[in-house]
Amino acid sequence: MEFRDLKAQYLANQTKIDSAIQKVILGGQFIGGDPVKQLEEKLADYVGVKHCITCANGTDALQLALMAWDIGQGDAVFVPDFTFFSTAEVVPWVQATPVFVDVDKDTYNMSPESLEEAIEAVLQEGKLRPKAVIAVDLFGQPADFPAIRTIADRYGLQLLEDGAQGFGGSIGERIACSFGDISTTSFFPAKPLGCYGDGGAVFTDNDEWAALVRSYKVHGKGNNKYDNVRIGMNSRLDTLQAAVLLAKFDRFIAEEVAAVNKVAAQYTQFLQDIVETPVIREGFCSSWAQYTIKVKNHRDDLQRMLAANGIPSMVYYSKPLHEQKAFSDLHRLYCSLDNTVELCREVLSLPMHPYMGDWEIEKTAKAIASVKILGDQ
Ligand SMILES: *Cc1c(COP(=O)(O)O)cnc(C)c1O
Repeated sequence: MEFRDLKAQYLANQTKIDSAIQKVILGGQFIGGDPVKQLEEKLADYVGVKHCITCANGTDALQLALMAWDIGQGDAVFVPDFTFFSTAEVVPWVQATPVFVDVDKDTYNMSPESLEEAIEAVLQEGKLRPKAVIAVDLFGQPADFPAIRTIADRYGLQLLEDGAQGFGGSIGERIACSFGDISTTSFFPAKPLGCYGDGGAVFTDNDEWAALVRSYKVHGKGNNKYDNVRIGMNSRLDTLQAAVLLAKFDRFIAEEVAAVNKVAAQYTQFLQDIVETPVIREGFCSSWAQYTIKVKNHRDDLQRMLAANGIPSMVYYSKPLHEQKAFSDLHRLYCSLDNTVELCREVLSLPMHPYMGDWEIEKTAKAIASVKILGDQ
């Protein structure tokens, strides 16, 4: 069984993907060009924002946003403690300070109460200027943007949506990657909409920030890349990757988001009485980058048993960011992070992708149900 079956997805779209790749190779243009332009227009239109600017990966996308806002030394950027490293890695990269915020135990997403507590503590201390919040759409579910937006506005903070795992999700009628002042995503192969290498994108309605991101991602270009008006980086999406994404996009929207929601519903039906299953808030729709259960006791035994039955599983994430060595000299604690610490001991992500067969879902669920030691959850 595959944890995320990219080959099955390729086979379902093979003719379209093959001809898109071939067209780029025969055309001889490998940087920029029509596919990149078309993709940016299509994604902006789908997300419902004015600008989509593609770039080399989801980490660069976050960094480009912080650069456009001119965030730097002495600025506090609030990030969830329970997320992939990148979300916080970009903060010291622009010389700012990450302030870790706890997450909600049920949704795994940033806790608005914890955010407010951390902002107040930073203000109280008076050393850092609160500047921005990075809220993550963890495992595919949009963060609690209605509540987080209210707090960001009250304290005058920029809101950055890290939608690397959330592309395809929504809250009501609004689509993920439209919730931040700037929002970003990743097209890493295993993300909800993945390409065949690295890729990313930045979304915003703001013309000035969009122009800055377009400049920063090509060596701080002015009129062209040989006219350099600021220090930037080299962060472009390859033409081949744009072509692959265009070839995959229609089915992603028309079928794959619904398909993963069906898989999740089946899992939950099988597992809800045995372990804690993921909670999706009323009115929210997840794109199910991960289906993550909580196993209070014997998680590692369960994982070994699944592996012995040919069922892959992953622990996302085993360590709170505030415990990562890389951050040890770069931050201070401003609030309790107990939920994150607990989740790191309990979470387990199961195989999840749009091409899962019923038998795979059943086999996984039955294997979990058969483990007697899970009785004392
Ligand atoms: C994957 C991921 C990123 C980084 O994306 P890359 O394309 O791998 O650089 C950032 N944030 C989160 C939450 C992610 O899961």
